Amino acid sequence: MGVNSKSSKSISRLENILIIGNGGRENSLAWAIQKNDLIKKVYLIPGNAGSERINKCERIKIDIKNKNELVEKLNSLKIDLVIIGPEIPLANGLADFLRDKEFKVFGPGKEGAKLEYSKSWAKEFMQNANIPTAKFWKVNSLEEAKKIIDSSSSPLVVKADGLASGKGVFIPDSKDECFRATELILNGKFGNSGNMVVLEEKIHGPEVSVFALCDGENYILLPTAQDHKRLNEEDKGPNTGGMGAYSPTPLLTKDYIDRIINEIIEPTINELNKKNIDYKGVIYFGLMITKSGPQVIEYNCRFGDPECQTLMPLMDPNFVFLLEKCAMGKLIGNEKIDISNKVSGCVIATSKGYPHNYKTGFPITIGKIDEIDCQIFDSGTSLNENGELITDGGRVLSIVCQDQDFDMVFEKAYKNLKKINFDGIYFRNDIGHQVRKNFSKDN
Ligand code: AMP
Repeated sequence: MGVNSKSSKSISRLENILIIGNGGRENSLAWAIQKNDLIKKVYLIPGNAGSERINKCERIKIDIKNKNELVEKLNSLKIDLVIIGPEIPLANGLADFLRDKEFKVFGPGKEGAKLEYSKSWAKEFMQNANIPTAKFWKVNSLEEAKKIIDSSSSPLVVKADGLASGKGVFIPDSKDECFRATELILNGKFGNSGNMVVLEEKIHGPEVSVFALCDGENYILLPTAQDHKRLNEEDKGPNTGGMGAYSPTPLLTKDYIDRIINEIIEPTINELNKKNIDYKGVIYFGLMITKSGPQVIEYNCRFGDPECQTLMPLMDPNFVFLLEKCAMGKLIGNEKIDISNKVSGCVIATSKGYPHNYKTGFPITIGKIDEIDCQIFDSGTSLNENGELITDGGRVLSIVCQDQDFDMVFEKAYKNLKKINFDGIYFRNDIGHQVRKNFSKDN
């Protein structure tokens, strides 16, 4: 059942928060959470060089795989709520482990994370619950794959079953390419993540992202978003982790969202319950709006990056209470979630060569950003031995702005991007082109 959550107060002591992860997503969560006056400290493990520029934030340098040390540290810091950002620790069962140690955790356990870390499991899950998604076949040998590829009327989408850092999906133009992609995966390109391949019918339409905060039974929807996965302008070039995003998307009207709730979100939560999976975290629905209606392309068991950076500035300071209620299975009430009526957009600045090979270690300069409603979240940065900010990843910085309309948002974002410099900086100039009235390719 969906709820309008009462986000106005905490239901337990909520002073010290821990966020696990090291990207723009985690920094934007930390930034949104520290705005609440109740919060004394936000710790990040490991965070990045941008984390400590955020008010109340501190980085903790321990290895989360060292579980005893982790528990000792969380106890000594008196952590009231743990938020797990990335998919790998979720898939490894970190949320289950910390819950067993009686911490409140926002993030699903290993069973719930399977929605993301096994594409074949997620497809069967959707099939059982009658959730619209592209037709699929599971294969673990080339012979099986060949039969299916040969008998299909058009090339199929090829996916490694397990986690592959967003690189395990191939969209071939010919059956031959389709076969070669399957071979690459089964031959170990993604290690054990490729022990199984999912072949899928190719579907068509714009892609949108929908987020449900879930407490195991109830859920609350956050604003919708659209991201840009391709590296180059006009949505061309290789897939990336995401080059920018905007929120909300005008494509999803209230009626259409109601349809998504009925056909996708509630059936997903009901099916999780049927399987006795107590999902406490965010479910990210990657949807394609096809001619016949919305279809699920993928589930993620965490906030998307850069969608998270785009959404967080729209949240009221009481947002952290919603995360706490999800962690405690107490998402009830009938007040509306407090969300800004502005719109938001994010542009990612990357290292030259991303998503393939790129160099790191270049000094970053950031000029004075004095406009309101403009944030810079570090995605891949560190400090060199002289304490200077340097590039340390493919996606380096996220520039996020909010305003009354998307033209104003992106004008501000691109104006401020000019104040940022590092060797080889690359970004797309056309983020949000779908929603910018004044957008022209010659801009
Ligand atoms: P995934 O990691 O499953 O989200 O796939 C990455 C991207 O591949 C998606 O964002 C889509 O653009 C594309 N894609 C995945 N599955 C399909 C499909 N069945 N039909 C068309 N495009 C797809």
